[in-house]
Amino acid sequence: MNLRGTIIDVGEVRSVSTRHGERELVEATIRPERIDGEGAATADGSVTVTLWGKWTHTAEHAGEGMDLLVTEAEETEFRGERGYATTGDSYVVLEPDFLVDVTDVRSWVQCPRMYYLNKLSGVPLAYPVVKGTIVHEVFGDLLRGRDLDAAVADHVEAAGLELGLLGREAEEVRDEVRRNAAAIEGWLAQGTLTDEDEWRSEYTLISPTFGIKGRADALRRGMPVELKTGKNTKRDPRFHDKIQAATYALLLGESGDPPDTGTLLYTKNAALDRSEASGDLSPAKEFSVGRGLLEFVVRTRNEIAAAEAERRVPTGYEADAKCEWCFEQDTCMVVSGRLDQESKAGQVGTAIPEEEREYFETFYRAIEDERRAVHAEYRKLWEQRPAERAAADRALIDLEPLDRRQLPDGDWELRARVPDGAVSKLREGDVALASAGDPIDGDAELGRIEELGDEAVVRVDEPLDLRRLDVYPSEISVSRQLTALHDALLKGDPERKDVLFGRRDPTFNEVAETFVDNNDAQNDAVRRAVGAEDFALVHGPPGTGKTYTIAHVVRALVERGERVLLSAFTNRAVDNALEALREQGFEDVARVGTATGVREDMLDVRLERRGEPNDRAAALRSAPVVAATTATCGSRELREDSFDVAVVDEASQLTEPGTLAAINLADRFVLVGDHQQLPPVVQSGDERLATSLFERLHDAHPDAATMLDRQYRMSQRIQAFASREFYDGALRPATPEVAGGTLSDLPGVDGAALGPELRRGVRFIDPDGRREGNANPVEAERVAAVVAEYLDAGVDPDDVVVIAPFRAQVAEISRRVDVAVDTVDRFQGSSAEVVVVSFVATGDLDGPIFEDTRRVNVALTRAKKSLVLVGDAGALASEPFYARMLDWARR
Ligand code: SF4
Repeated sequence: MNLRGTIIDVGEVRSVSTRHGERELVEATIRPERIDGEGAATADGSVTVTLWGKWTHTAEHAGEGMDLLVTEAEETEFRGERGYATTGDSYVVLEPDFLVDVTDVRSWVQCPRMYYLNKLSGVPLAYPVVKGTIVHEVFGDLLRGRDLDAAVADHVEAAGLELGLLGREAEEVRDEVRRNAAAIEGWLAQGTLTDEDEWRSEYTLISPTFGIKGRADALRRGMPVELKTGKNTKRDPRFHDKIQAATYALLLGESGDPPDTGTLLYTKNAALDRSEASGDLSPAKEFSVGRGLLEFVVRTRNEIAAAEAERRVPTGYEADAKCEWCFEQDTCMVVSGRLDQESKAGQVGTAIPEEEREYFETFYRAIEDERRAVHAEYRKLWEQRPAERAAADRALIDLEPLDRRQLPDGDWELRARVPDGAVSKLREGDVALASAGDPIDGDAELGRIEELGDEAVVRVDEPLDLRRLDVYPSEISVSRQLTALHDALLKGDPERKDVLFGRRDPTFNEVAETFVDNNDAQNDAVRRAVGAEDFALVHGPPGTGKTYTIAHVVRALVERGERVLLSAFTNRAVDNALEALREQGFEDVARVGTATGVREDMLDVRLERRGEPNDRAAALRSAPVVAATTATCGSRELREDSFDVAVVDEASQLTEPGTLAAINLADRFVLVGDHQQLPPVVQSGDERLATSLFERLHDAHPDAATMLDRQYRMSQRIQAFASREFYDGALRPATPEVAGGTLSDLPGVDGAALGPELRRGVRFIDPDGRREGNANPVEAERVAAVVAEYLDAGVDPDDVVVIAPFRAQVAEISRRVDVAVDTVDRFQGSSAEVVVVSFVATGDLDGPIFEDTRRVNVALTRAKKSLVLVGDAGALASEPFYARMLDWARR
């Protein structure tokens, strides 16, 4: 039986004499979630569980409040007291909900402090890293039967940009990779394999039991094979490499017997000259995976989970690693010195001021909390039933496989029919978990969604019957925020930090030039941005032309000889800013992003990563404007770049460390946003993280901000409520035409045919519906009727959008209308002539749109000429803000 519960108390390790000799044990008291069978709980619901032998090591790391899982526990009775104990088949897992990555287990074994340093500094742009990636990709291709030379040439070309930035020549890299890959090919062909050898490349594994996730390089006959691009002339694999492969074995054994053999392939061995190198030069080294090794893996994983639960920063003393042989020694000493941390390596340098250390620690914790929230999303993969996941928009289920075909580069394209009306958070370009139905215990592959409509098309490494697609949570954003935090605090310019930490005010140069001659606020915003010696803020309420202003800012900076990083939270905003820039006649831009992320009409300025390294690097380095999302700013190729000014749009939707990822790369910065619209999305709910740097600086330095106060979108009637509630009444229509805009202004719309209701700029309708789950069918019906009225009056369907708070209601309405329907988050940044908002709620005001009035601001300010609010008047009138909204809408 499996026993799981929260630890109340952990006793001391003691020795007892047993019939097997002296043995160590620890007694832990836990409050179980549930006990299979009769159970042996005491009156207060707690039970005692005895952890025998080496599991006492885990008990030493366990603390009150942590979760403990004992698999294959047995019920015991000793002197009349009943309890539980580990058996020979048991594993003891601490904090099973914390998902440790397999590579983290590996680095922890090398030195726990190395695990911490890796988290802070991320993956650097370094030749061994890039070469390692290429060799891994070639390995995958070889397993899928691709020709060696073709695979090498293809992957070296694909890494053109990174290689160029590292100053490498393609031919030299091809030779080196070919030598490494030849070792693999030779080994594959060497009779090591038989016809029965079954191979799988890149296998994604998640273990709910052990709280570990990872991606194995390959499986051969179900056994893990790990590729290392270094050399190892010893007979045995290196211990930490062995641990990595053994961890995969543990995961593979979760639902059956674990594999008994692991293989490490040291590709550089075959490239060594036999006359010069001695030792065992064979690239493949096998080892037995015994029970002892698997238990060691779990105990190591438990150390990590416990350290994370206690927020302990490893010092390095926890392990036997020798600092003098450690390739991280310099980094380790610098980080220790700058953050004044105890470490085995010692400290160098001066510690950063205490307030900065506090800031670092606050955000470090907040980001780690966010990581736990991401882990909770992983957990839903196995905790929620397929129908529940589909209902929560986290999966598309019941797909009907249509086709699978292998592409020339060895990847597979899977095609399946999507059931009618199925909705989810998945979008084209997303990396998702494709499976044959069970993403945890069945066949599953990580793949990129190429198309998503009536059919889903997914590109994966290995073929499977595509029956289900799941949102695959990613820790990349969390990891990049940590690195941005590290870079800003430990490597950041002291003068920049003085301003960020309020030790001095930002300064500005006077700029007299006129940049925008028909809008004073926009002109002032450009002047401030150009004249800023530290930073400037542009506050852009809806429809005030902030994208247009950004384009002016970028052009003005480039004209002054500055190199500009143009960034935003979303690809959409980056491309909108680029579009505005190009409309103003500026084309000299390098857009960095994936082919699926970049909008089609911007692909011609997208920086191609493939190709001749020198050309690729020159294309990036010589671009006066580089445009990328803030997430991409944290990528290894951009993290090394530098700019004079970073212009960041949607800055109010970014967490503070998320913003740092972009502004770390520049001497000065301009943040553009509106803190009265959607705030950063923070799953853990941490308030510090949910407050953007834009908002913090806006509050601290209102003089550094320019508010764009003339809006070109909404009629006077529509904008009145938002202006009063969110912008102190300062927002006003830019022109009389905007102020008095009506639907009759639209081509094809017959003003005379519009009924009196349609002529009103703002309407409220209470259809007397009832919320059922996350939908309100009566309200959906009425929304459909309203949409039909507008279309009958000649309004183009593309000019109408419907906003609903829940995806269930989005689906309910989508079934009835042929216009765009989505949640408010999807519409931030866009607008439409007619907007219909369905509030769904009846009784209580419960739902995502009501969590923050700023969401309502976004919903209402999408409309240009006609806004219809559909909801339950009683529920809305129950809160003052919505009561005022009702008054205004009914006037
Ligand atoms: S220098 Fe020492 S303490 Fe630091 S990571 Fe290396 S082995 Fe660990």
